[in-house]
Amino acid sequence: MIEFRNEPLTDFSKEENRKSFQKALNEVQSNLGKEYPIIIGGEAIQTGDQLPSINPSNVDEVIGVVHQADHNLAEKAMQTATSTFETWKNVSPAARARILLRAAAILRRKKHVFSAWMVLEAGKSWPEADADTAEAIDFMEFYARAMMDYSQRQPLVPIDGEENELIYIPLGVGAIIPPWNFPLAILVGMTTAAIVCGNTVCLKPASTTNVIAAKFMEILTEAGLPAGVVNFVPGSGSEIGEYFVKHPLTRFISFTGSHEVGLRINELAAKMAPGQKWIKRVVAEMGGKDSIIVDQHADLDLAAEAIVVSAFGFSGQKCSACSRAIVHEAVYEQVLEKVIARTKKLVVGEAKDVTVDVGPVIDERAYQRILEYIEIGKKEGRLVLGGEKADGNGYFIQPTIFADVHPEARIAQEEIFGPVLAFFSAKNFEHALEIANNTKYGLTGSVFSRDRFNLERARREFYVGNLYFNRKCTGALVGVHPFGGFNLSGTNAKAGGREYLLQFMQAKCISERL
Ligand code: NAP
Ligand code: MG
Repeated sequence: MIEFRNEPLTDFSKEENRKSFQKALNEVQSNLGKEYPIIIGGEAIQTGDQLPSINPSNVDEVIGVVHQADHNLAEKAMQTATSTFETWKNVSPAARARILLRAAAILRRKKHVFSAWMVLEAGKSWPEADADTAEAIDFMEFYARAMMDYSQRQPLVPIDGEENELIYIPLGVGAIIPPWNFPLAILVGMTTAAIVCGNTVCLKPASTTNVIAAKFMEILTEAGLPAGVVNFVPGSGSEIGEYFVKHPLTRFISFTGSHEVGLRINELAAKMAPGQKWIKRVVAEMGGKDSIIVDQHADLDLAAEAIVVSAFGFSGQKCSACSRAIVHEAVYEQVLEKVIARTKKLVVGEAKDVTVDVGPVIDERAYQRILEYIEIGKKEGRLVLGGEKADGNGYFIQPTIFADVHPEARIAQEEIFGPVLAFFSAKNFEHALEIANNTKYGLTGSVFSRDRFNLERARREFYVGNLYFNRKCTGALVGVHPFGGFNLSGTNAKAGGREYLLQFMQAKCISERL
């Protein structure tokens, strides 16, 4: 098999690419408002309890309507996943991997259409949606290869008189609970990593992006995945999500989302349910409060550009988004000015418009919460840009920058998950690192510096799972930058890395006396 390579991103400066993406958008637009069923054991089930998915750029537009599961159907999904595990676990790793490769090929052919769904359902700009689809393809290509590696003979120390073997076997039934902010990539990565290892799953997608999840189910079916391996169970997180988390037949939970929900899942999963005979494994990838440090001697234009892209790409709704710019006092005003000037050029508007840089935030709740944080920020810092909602029939918020924020302020400590950036002045590099490390999170961070000594120091002391030098702190690539943080950013499972698969397997060592 050819070596893994990242899926190339689409160059939207080329007219032909813009044209074909627009065509995909038109196609999706003529398919809006359809109904999507629950899928359990291959059977499409309609409950009549339907949740509309709304375009956050235009709240009068219904993207699709998704049937919602109740406890009975969640139970049916658990039973189906449990019985299907008995056959799926015996399908060879290579055969399982081939289904991922086939799904990746199908998705590659439908790339722009899937990206277009995300433009409309999640409010992603064209390039952000394109990157999301590319990452989904990458996850499947990468985990397929990783599984084939793990199915090879593993190295053990030889000993006379015995033949020894260590093999990786699946865990059982998993609950897959992804977030909405990478509605395709993260859902695909979490789901396919679990199944390529031989597990079966109940997938409860994020409620705001149910349609893109339903579309991915169509690909799995087309790729030949046997019924019952992935059971698609849309429903509320606190109802259906928790039902799976607490269920005695659940062997593991793979969650990505906020630290509040992650901690609750961890606590619920720790309680033994009647009849349960294992410790549930919890993979919880959670939030961030990520910093970019700008040193006294650094390329300030490069730094300013990276801060703007990392802070306001997808309206700051990335776990890796830069929400804290920590700048050496000698260049503080300069960097602040450069960032303000660049941010002013960002176009805010409907995501379906190719010229738009910053689309809406995801829903009414996020919108209100972010606007509240902006009001808090007005008391905690000096508002230098934005600070208001923006025009449009959707959840638009102006890119907002606060200067001179105290490192202990709420907007310095709490994950806002919106287009809000805080600036901090640091006395020296040591002070900058101190501010950067002073959060309960530890996901991503960047340092802009020309000082080798300071870069080496950051290498040791900047306590984040993904650290970047002289580049933005978003945009981790599968295989290149295995992703996952420290502290309350999660369990450090390193998605997009080879070892990620070990979260979903257990090792069996077999020794035969010769
Ligand atoms: P969220 O509110 O925590 O929801 C995540 C998922 O959990 C959704 O599917 C949600 O379902 C479900 N859920 C909610 N309450 C639940 C409960 N009590 N029991 C079980 N499941 C429950 O997070 P989000 O708003 O979707 O995503 C944003 C967060 O994800 C941010 O904090 C971001 O930093 C983090 N994130 C982290 C990473 C990483 O790799 N570390 C990557 C991306 C995002 P409903 O949609 O039905 O509520
Ligand atoms: Mg929506």
